[in-house]
Amino acid sequence: MTAAEMESVESFRARAGSWLKANMPPAPAHIDATRREWDRARELQRRLYDGGFAGICFPKEYGGLGLTPAHQRAFSDESLSYDMPLEFNVPTLAVCAPTILDMGTEEQKRRHIHAALRGDEFLAQFLSEPRGGSDLAGLTTKAVLDGDRWILNGAKIWSSGAYAASYALCLARTNWEVAKHRGLTMFLVPTDAEGLTIQQIKQADGTIEFCQEFFDDVVLPADAVVGQVDGGWDVASRQLVHERSAVGGASPYASGAQIHSGGDISRLVALARRTGQMDDIRVREDIGEARAMSLVLDEVIARITGAIGSGSMPPPAGSIIRLLSAENSWLQADMAVRISGSNGATEGIADEGEPGWIGRDYLHRQAWSLAGGSTEMARNIISERVLGMPREFAADRDVPFNQVKHGR
Ligand SMILES: Cc1cc2nc3c(=O)[nH]c(=O)nc-3n(C[C@H](O)[C@H](O)[C@H](O)COP(=O)(O)OP(=O)(O)OC[C@H]3O[C@@H](n4cnc5c(N)ncnc54)[C@H](O)[C@@H]3O)c2cc1C
Repeated sequence: MTAAEMESVESFRARAGSWLKANMPPAPAHIDATRREWDRARELQRRLYDGGFAGICFPKEYGGLGLTPAHQRAFSDESLSYDMPLEFNVPTLAVCAPTILDMGTEEQKRRHIHAALRGDEFLAQFLSEPRGGSDLAGLTTKAVLDGDRWILNGAKIWSSGAYAASYALCLARTNWEVAKHRGLTMFLVPTDAEGLTIQQIKQADGTIEFCQEFFDDVVLPADAVVGQVDGGWDVASRQLVHERSAVGGASPYASGAQIHSGGDISRLVALARRTGQMDDIRVREDIGEARAMSLVLDEVIARITGAIGSGSMPPPAGSIIRLLSAENSWLQADMAVRISGSNGATEGIADEGEPGWIGRDYLHRQAWSLAGGSTEMARNIISERVLGMPREFAADRDVPFNQVKHGR
């Protein structure tokens, strides 16, 4: 589609606004963060698809609209007050589907991107392992070629929403005789495969979102490989770029939103009002700081996304957005606790909005420094791959993986 043939952003915004009003339910007043409504999300995603508003930045041949990030941002703005299938955003639409789009076979793209956009298929990520997620290339889940099929053995952990997914992108070691980054292969694994056990993990904040998986001789066909055999690091690298962009709220592939990406400070304002602290100078300063941070984050997202798009900054610059958005989430969670005081630990204080959100956000805030790669790793990436500073020492660099010393 040429730029001249493409619908203008303003016309698309107006059309999306009226369609959303006529077809999508209003956003719920209470969001129960401990429960994901997967079937509801499937139904809502299907409505978007049938209405011609799914996959705004995905190519038409895979079920999307082939439009630009500006169209997607306009749609997200319009969607703020509606109930949206946000469960599809991360990792299905914003991380896994774009990775398949970048690196998958034609068959994988047609099959899985379309299924996700239609609301038929959630996708998960099997990357992190019990021995640690930061050193992703050091993973030890292994796939061995047996004739024309692969046999997968090992364990993964912290897989968001895997229990609801149909397939997962799973990184496994296929070659132990080369350095760690060069012996990995990415597979598309059906979650109902024989020999695959998925267990949900209950967190301190009450969520059961994370899963751990055990692979016992799981058989995969040759066409389960995404990208090249032993070329899995290239696929994972694309996946991590999409993930950082998604975690920072900058993905063009997410579908709709319920709060502005920089964070919604209206909850802090409502909290200050309800607790009679709107005139307290300390509280006003806190809210001002949160507002300033959310504006800065929005500007940073726009600037860095644009710079990566035009090639003036390298894709790892997405880590700057990832880092700042974690700091923004921390700032807001901590401020809510400061404003509410010890009452924040109870259910009652916020009962006009989402019950218990202050305590739960506080317990959950650590997650924003880990999801999509930790903030320490983001700092490493920014220093090494954006600023060009010397790489950190790694004893296993260029050493065949079967000669690398491992702790027991
Ligand atoms: C909300 C959420 C969703 C997630 N979803 C998924 C998912 O769907 N699929 C999946 O596979 N994983 C998922 N993860 C796991 C996530 O990718 C890992 O938590 C993350 O990569 C860190 O790995 P780890 O927790 O094993 O910590 P470790 O790697 O053990 O690190 C522990 C600490 O050491 C620091 N550290 C480690 N190495 C270095 C270094 N070289 N320099 C400086 N500091 C270092 C880390 O920053 C961290 O603070 C999710 C995590 C969260 C919180």
